[in-house]
Amino acid sequence: LPCSIRSFSEAAGVSVGKVLGTMMQMGIGGVNINSQLDLEAAETLAAEMELSIELKAAETLENSLINELEEREDSAESLIARAPVVTFLGHVDHGKTSLLDYLIGINVVKGEAGGITQHIRAYEIDKDGRKVTFVDTPGHEAFTEMRARGANVTDIAVLVVAADDGVMPQTAEAISHAKAAEVPIVVALNKIDLEGVDENRILTQLTEHGLTPSEWGGEVEVVRTSATKGIGMDELLETLLTVAELNEYSANPDREALGVCLESAQEGDRGVSAKLIVQNGTLRVGDVIVCGNSYGRVRAMTDTLNNKPIAEAGPSTPVNVMGFDEAPGAGDRFHVLDDITKAREIAETRTHASSQESLSGSTTKISFDTFQERLQDGTLGVQADKVRLNMIIRADVKGSLEAIEKELTKLDHPEVEIRILQKSVGGVSLADVSLASASDAVICAFNVVPDERARSLADERGVEIRRYSIIYKLTDEIRLMIEGRLKPEE
Ligand code: GDP
Repeated sequence: LPCSIRSFSEAAGVSVGKVLGTMMQMGIGGVNINSQLDLEAAETLAAEMELSIELKAAETLENSLINELEEREDSAESLIARAPVVTFLGHVDHGKTSLLDYLIGINVVKGEAGGITQHIRAYEIDKDGRKVTFVDTPGHEAFTEMRARGANVTDIAVLVVAADDGVMPQTAEAISHAKAAEVPIVVALNKIDLEGVDENRILTQLTEHGLTPSEWGGEVEVVRTSATKGIGMDELLETLLTVAELNEYSANPDREALGVCLESAQEGDRGVSAKLIVQNGTLRVGDVIVCGNSYGRVRAMTDTLNNKPIAEAGPSTPVNVMGFDEAPGAGDRFHVLDDITKAREIAETRTHASSQESLSGSTTKISFDTFQERLQDGTLGVQADKVRLNMIIRADVKGSLEAIEKELTKLDHPEVEIRILQKSVGGVSLADVSLASASDAVICAFNVVPDERARSLADERGVEIRRYSIIYKLTDEIRLMIEGRLKPEE
């Protein structure tokens, strides 16, 4: 299978110049960085360069095959509307589980699902022939973690706010995470059945967090709900369907399926059961499938609500799949291939690669140093002609946060926009590192330290955490950085 010289050099960890140089010496001319090598050529080249490329060559096979599937464009005629994929976020006990239970007609809160401890639930529901898919992740950390792994499944976030409590710290975090994911947000103002609810207070809080309700002239729909009394459920679904229509979510049902594994389990002698969500194409019984380090042939599929057998699953459909050789990981992407040998080879290569941890180094996350480079070569997210510097700020007290933010707004630069994804009091958490990793952000810790787990995740993901104790030092560094004059940190 062909791979480009670029991928070859990346996989082998040698410069393109060196690869081309070696090819010249071997008498192969007229090639450039995008020229394709077949497996044999790659092996010959590797032998010539004395690289232990066996595994690497297979990795490029994987890359070319999977990349082709990921990048294949669907023609406009092939696209049809698909159901929106909706995720509930919010403070604990505000009613996420209860809302979903009501919508699907079971009661997990009361334990009706028979004590199944499900991590991530996913269901498709039907509203007068129009479908909505709900994916329920346990908290915004899990939501962002999926994003950090490249598994963007959510189209719309429903922010659940209990009317008696209002916006709580976790609500504020959930807002940051949903905003960073750049998905539309719909607010479910839940527990509206309770006595003495002060709606104005909550609408004000929402506005303060940048979610101005549409009834106040903003863009955020606020739906009053009661999960226990079943109030506002139709309106919530209608609102979600309207947002979906506006955003024209679409997919091509006539192609090989691809999507994401939400969770999986080894179920005794029944084998591995994996809960997948199809993002594009149609998955069918009998398909050859590869997902993370696992592969197999789809032996059986069931719907996630009633566990009834189904023969195929189209875009936005969550489905339980039997037939993997081992349990794929949550957040792993899946692809349907035409050949079981290729699927096995890819799965084996990945197993090999992950056991050597050679994959983790492959993503370059943003750091203070790379920001400057990427500022120059234009590979940062560009918004209205400005490159964007995403930041997460943690501080010891609220006063410092406010002071830092005020100073940062003074750093006006024609080409750089500073966007604060999250600012909060307290130490740097795992969720912050996930968020930084999913959104190419840098973390500034002011008079606080990251906890041990956050630190090690940051190392693993290449997320930079800078620590400060003087405000002007922080803002000076940011200014120097956006002006491109910052010295790398020791
Ligand atoms: P989660 O942690 O966000 O998933 O919240 P749960 O769905 O587990 O709900 C927490 C508690 O609030 C449970 O005891 C629910 O019965 C209760 N609850 C959820 N929604 C409502 C509501 O609309 N009204 C009232 N009064 N209680 C609710």
